[in-house]
Amino acid sequence: MKRSKLPRLGDIFLFYGSFSVLFSMVLLLFFLYLLADSQIDSSYRLEFSFVLLLVVGNLLSSSVSFLAGRKVLEPATEISHAMAEVAKGNFNIRMNSNGCTEESNEMSNNFNVMVRELETIETLRNDFVVTISHEFKTPLAAIEGYATILSSFNLPQIGLEYCQKIIENARRISRFSTNALMLSNLENQASLREKKKYRLDEQLRQAVMTLEPLWQKKETAIDLELEQAVYHGNEDLLMQVWLNLISNAVKFTPKDGHIFVSLRQEPGTMLVTVSDNGIGIPKEKQKHIFDKFYKSDRPGGGNGLGLAIVKRIVDLSDGKIIVKSKPGVGSSFTVMLPGD
Ligand code: ADP
Repeated sequence: MKRSKLPRLGDIFLFYGSFSVLFSMVLLLFFLYLLADSQIDSSYRLEFSFVLLLVVGNLLSSSVSFLAGRKVLEPATEISHAMAEVAKGNFNIRMNSNGCTEESNEMSNNFNVMVRELETIETLRNDFVVTISHEFKTPLAAIEGYATILSSFNLPQIGLEYCQKIIENARRISRFSTNALMLSNLENQASLREKKKYRLDEQLRQAVMTLEPLWQKKETAIDLELEQAVYHGNEDLLMQVWLNLISNAVKFTPKDGHIFVSLRQEPGTMLVTVSDNGIGIPKEKQKHIFDKFYKSDRPGGGNGLGLAIVKRIVDLSDGKIIVKSKPGVGSSFTVMLPGD
């Protein structure tokens, strides 16, 4: 998280404590100097004792307020971290409600109630999407099937066009259902199953070939620079990552665009980059693109699940994904996977 230039509460306490200690020390040294120099005669001894008492008192009170301040501020720091987790969509986080003040315990309890409510809403939303997706699958297959059969009859041109529209839209909702179910499965998975060793460079070549009809149609040039690499992971899921990233690059790059796919190996890491010279993503939208159902209002977008699926698979593979993008210049997605 980016830190602002404003001071943190802990720093203010530290500054106040250090200042008081320093001030007391200077005062004490000054009086010791006067005493040693015999500039204070014995009649002032009482005043000196009083000043000494003040200095020691100040030292003690600053130390106590510094330590107590830190303790009291602990929940504020904790809630700030917890809020950051909630903002990322993690509703499993809970705050410790055994703090040292009534207010901090109340704050923790209220926070825990809030995240429990959010968690329930999120679960309901997910269950709803999964149920709807399941229910849609069979009727959609029937609609697509009947429309395909209907289009094989001797229909007038307008009838054929309508059939085509029915088929396209049925496929679109069907893709949404498939993606929603896939994401839900991935979210319920704690680790990857069915891992094996395979050639990652071959898989990337395969992904580009699979999407050939898409990039041929848009006359997009695709360049590959792939080092030979053996990767240990779930082949099918990783294929989904490359298909989603490359198809997005094609979708969001105007005709005659240029896409570059590279695979590089560094000690302990394999880096796969998919770059394009397409429309790019504005800075303020970049942090949302991996969220579920996030999609731009620009033409060509799908159901907003593609990058959420990519992110989940990369996370399950113990990898990382970063995006660099500039509107009007292009985007570059880099997936870092653990290697040998
Ligand atoms: P969609 O199904 O809309 O493509 P994604 O989850 O795959 O959903 O992507 C989310 C959003 O991220 C897209 O709607 C688009 O705004 C943005 N995006 C993803 N990839 C690119 C890209 N290569 N260039 C520009 N924008 C992109």
